[in-house]
Amino acid sequence: MEQTGVNPHVLLFPFPGQGNMNSMLKLAELLCHAGLHITFLNSDYNQQRLLRFTDIQERFSRWPNFRFQTITDGLPADHPRSATTFFQILASMKATAKPIFREIIVSARQESGMWPPLSCIIADGLMPFTIDVAKELNIPLIVFRAISACCVWAFFCLPKLFAAAELPFPGGDEADMDVPIKCVLPGMEGLLRRRDLPSFFRTKDPNDPILKELLVECEKMTQASALIINTFEDLEGPVLTQIRSQVPNLYTVGPLHALLRSQRQHSNSLMAPNIAASNSLWEEDRSCMAWLDSQPPKSVVYMSFGSLVVFGEDTLMEFWHGLVNSGKCFLWAIRRDSITVSGGEGDIILAKMVDGAKERGSLVVEWAPQEEVLSHPAVGVFLTHNGWNSTMESIYAGVPMICWPFFADQQINSRFVSEVWRVGVAMNTCDRRTIERMVRNVESTDELAKLARRSISEAGSSSCNLDRLVQDLRSMTS
Ligand code: UDP
Repeated sequence: MEQTGVNPHVLLFPFPGQGNMNSMLKLAELLCHAGLHITFLNSDYNQQRLLRFTDIQERFSRWPNFRFQTITDGLPADHPRSATTFFQILASMKATAKPIFREIIVSARQESGMWPPLSCIIADGLMPFTIDVAKELNIPLIVFRAISACCVWAFFCLPKLFAAAELPFPGGDEADMDVPIKCVLPGMEGLLRRRDLPSFFRTKDPNDPILKELLVECEKMTQASALIINTFEDLEGPVLTQIRSQVPNLYTVGPLHALLRSQRQHSNSLMAPNIAASNSLWEEDRSCMAWLDSQPPKSVVYMSFGSLVVFGEDTLMEFWHGLVNSGKCFLWAIRRDSITVSGGEGDIILAKMVDGAKERGSLVVEWAPQEEVLSHPAVGVFLTHNGWNSTMESIYAGVPMICWPFFADQQINSRFVSEVWRVGVAMNTCDRRTIERMVRNVESTDELAKLARRSISEAGSSSCNLDRLVQDLRSMTS
């Protein structure tokens, strides 16, 4: 990417989740790479974990135009930052971070010396209060969404779903989830059943505060200067067209992990392409890479449910028996804090799983270097919760998915994976026989992986959109 004119100063502010921070850090690296000055505003809690478990400090110390700044998430250190407390994290950010964020922006606007004054903010769409601050301080703000475009579009469709009486579901969570959505949702006509809508829609309360928050997020998105989504045109074209009717300036720059890797390979930057680029908030167990080297091609089932999912013992046992009964070797990445049994039994269960897997020639680890795992030739299937980063990583690697969505955008991602992109199968119920059957029968195709590769090639849509973003950010300084 050619560097012309002044190099502006941009502040990136992710919502403090693993997937959100991970994808925004990748965007930050790409912008650094283009010569921009980047302040990355991370939560204190995540920053401490990044420093503990990764080489992040060394990696970014090579960039004089990059710096971290931190902000509290307002939660105590021992708070379980998981799916079940997701809305507590949101509420806490809203309550505590807004005034501090404002202070940070005010002072970055007055920057002098080596760092130019801040000229633009890129903030996670989960925190619409950032748009209020940006408007008040008269600074452009671009929204970043770490979820799929189909989910962003489903949020925009909320008023339509209410008007057509599709929402709220009669009985909320207890409603018949297989009922098709009858009203026409442009870009995804005739595709969705109730169960495929984002999980936040499962309410019987028309005044549900979460739905109200989603409406605010959409309204604020339309007030932003632009929108960035970690997706690519060939993947989500029809829904991207719809989103552009609401937010005309939309940059699709995904898959970000692959775009970053490719930019590193093609540049003479100080950042060597072979430097491990982990942004993990858990310690990666790299022993699984050597283990994968010893397995035949496409033979291993890789299973992971990301950073937020929590399991009860029953679900865990269905997965365990399904995998074992399939007779396939598996690599299961399961966080200790995702096993929700009381009295420290989670540790006992995990220890038993580690031993049980070893006896069967398989492997259980707490956290894997997932991007590398998915691109390893031994991996044949990915059993996933369809978090958006995991989904993009799997699509890019050409690994077929077995989808067990848990919450947020995962339900609609799962529907698109199985019915639109046809790169996986969806599990509606979690039982060992279904898992065993799916693990044995899932088929792979790499058509979509080819399109993903094309999008990040030099003239590909995501590369061009990144160039356009950089140019637009430069024009904001003048
Ligand atoms: N991840 C990882 N190792 C693991 C599990 C997950 O590195 O053992 C990474 C994964 O590659 C992805 C992120 O954590 O980039 C999870 O993000 P995603 O959006 O898939 O799910 P979330 O954690 O937000 O539910």
